[in-house]
Amino acid sequence: MAGKDTVCSLCKNKAVAYLPYAEQRLCNDHFAHSVERRAKRTVREYKMLDGAKHIAVAMSGGKDSQVLLYLLHEIASPMGIRLTAILVDEGIKGYREKVIPEAKSLCKELKVPLKIVTFKRSFKRSLDDIMKLKRKGEGNLRQEASCTYCGVLRRWLLNKATKEIGADRLALGHNLDDMAQSYMMNMLRNEQSLMRLNPVGGDAEAFVMRIRPLFRIPEKEIALYAVLKGFKSTFVECPYVVEGFRPYVRGFINDLESKYPGTKFKLLNSYLSTKDAISVAASKGKRAPNSCGKCGEPTSGKICKCCELIETLK
Ligand code: SF4
Ligand code: ZN
Repeated sequence: MAGKDTVCSLCKNKAVAYLPYAEQRLCNDHFAHSVERRAKRTVREYKMLDGAKHIAVAMSGGKDSQVLLYLLHEIASPMGIRLTAILVDEGIKGYREKVIPEAKSLCKELKVPLKIVTFKRSFKRSLDDIMKLKRKGEGNLRQEASCTYCGVLRRWLLNKATKEIGADRLALGHNLDDMAQSYMMNMLRNEQSLMRLNPVGGDAEAFVMRIRPLFRIPEKEIALYAVLKGFKSTFVECPYVVEGFRPYVRGFINDLESKYPGTKFKLLNSYLSTKDAISVAASKGKRAPNSCGKCGEPTSGKICKCCELIETLK
């Protein structure tokens, strides 16, 4: 991330990172300190831990979730707040099982309990099983992309598992890049689900409160922080990622960012400055969330999206 022959803008040590939007070069220590300071500031500014007693931390085993767990352990544990990591195993061959050992090893090191929930046990089918059905055209399966099934089922499981362990917060590892991409995808598809991106909260009060302490930190900086901290991280890409819309949006935003540094922050700020107006407009005429007639989880209709998708597999 840093150019060659560069020194830290704050001391004379060798720079390891260049933050183009801040025109700053930072050495190991100043960079790590900067990431930690920004995460703490976000937590404080958005009152993410106020009144919290037990936080469920969504773990994927990847670098974002490892950094999230590590930083929350640094910030929340001294405040007497309990942490439990929750990992959703979707059942994607050659992918999730490669990073589960990394999640286990960090949880063990930090002495944070880890709860693993699986699609197979909860829905009787792994994501691979669901996609096989889709390709064969069996069942009443809709032509939904793998990421739609994966995202809806994963959100449902995380919400349920968080309630089961009695946690009052669900921490998610979304970074600046995730936020900018999701915002742009929502705009391009004219979707009404923007409130799901809220740094604090959810899209309905009945959902466990979600917090996103890393939402203002760029993905590259989280990756570098993970390397500097020595977290083990195997890079494996989900085989279904090519089927999604996100890779195109990611490439487009990354191109813009390299030509116009600060684009990702501008997209995030655009979302933050309009989200309340969007939320008021979107909630007009909408009923308060009620319980899904099948599973009891929150929904604005009669049946939640997860149960609707599960129905398509019968
Ligand atoms: Fe799930 Fe899509 Fe992410 Fe793969 S790329 S883990 S299918 S959301
Ligand atoms: Zn349901």
